[in-house]
Amino acid sequence: PAAGDASAPFDALVPQAPAASLSALEGREVSAWFGERKVLERVSLRMEAGQVTALIGPSGCGKSTFLRILNRMHELVPSASLAGEVLLDGEDIYDRGKKLQDARKHIGMVFQKPNPFPAMSIYDNVIAGLKLTGKRASRDEKDEIVERSLTAAGLWKEVKDRLRQPGGGLSGGQQQRLCIARSLAVKPKVLLMDEPCSALDPTSTRVIEETMSELQKEVTIVIVTHNMQQAQRVSQQCAFFLAAQGTPGAIVEHGDTEAMFSEPQDQRTYDYVNGRF
Ligand code: ADP
Ligand code: MG
Repeated sequence: PAAGDASAPFDALVPQAPAASLSALEGREVSAWFGERKVLERVSLRMEAGQVTALIGPSGCGKSTFLRILNRMHELVPSASLAGEVLLDGEDIYDRGKKLQDARKHIGMVFQKPNPFPAMSIYDNVIAGLKLTGKRASRDEKDEIVERSLTAAGLWKEVKDRLRQPGGGLSGGQQQRLCIARSLAVKPKVLLMDEPCSALDPTSTRVIEETMSELQKEVTIVIVTHNMQQAQRVSQQCAFFLAAQGTPGAIVEHGDTEAMFSEPQDQRTYDYVNGRF
């Protein structure tokens, strides 16, 4: 509606601003190599504060590599190198003098296969996430962190009476939510999720998706998924990655999720989201 139209709801005229405390993450011209082999070509993507951004595309197109660059895990591979910038609230996490630990603290990661410490208690699994801060927490602080993190991960009610039992005794879906809680213990600004539901049954998947929609109120989320329905259910922004025969992965198209699925601008996006690839 045109400005000045008295019937137009005010909200429609003003872009929805995210809560001030939420953070945006931006990759600028990110390229990546393993040895001589280039696997990502100038990927630029802004992951907006308070939104869920889905990264989609065929296997091998560099989605996981991009995600790992976003929290400085890529540099742990000896043969790996990269170019470009990653900005968290406008500050390059790769700036000289910036510590690896800081990037990890602000930018958490959850993997495809739930990886809690199986013999460690549920309580201690969550507290293990605090190692990144290097700070000592009192017993009361720890109790509070465990309750807050498990609540945010949608697991508190199910485990509050058995916090001393081993994490490995939980179901797959619960273990994944425990890993989410462990990431949340340090109050990260961004949560990266690499196919977090691929190893889970449909019911657990649904529970994680519901958890995400609550979670995005407090943390900016980036999720890699091969499930097109899931991308549409959980994300507001979407980026389609592709590595054409013998070329490095690159973003073909990105933008509003609904628009990308209903009216993709590129034929290759159309084919992929419609299951033709
Ligand atoms: P995706 O997550 O989209 O499936 P990846 O980021 O895992 O893609 O992989 C992108 C490309 O990088 C692939 O060709 C893959 O074989 C290669 N690659 C990934 N990890 C390594 C590694 N540690 N060493 C060498 N090549 C790798
Ligand atoms: Mg991957």
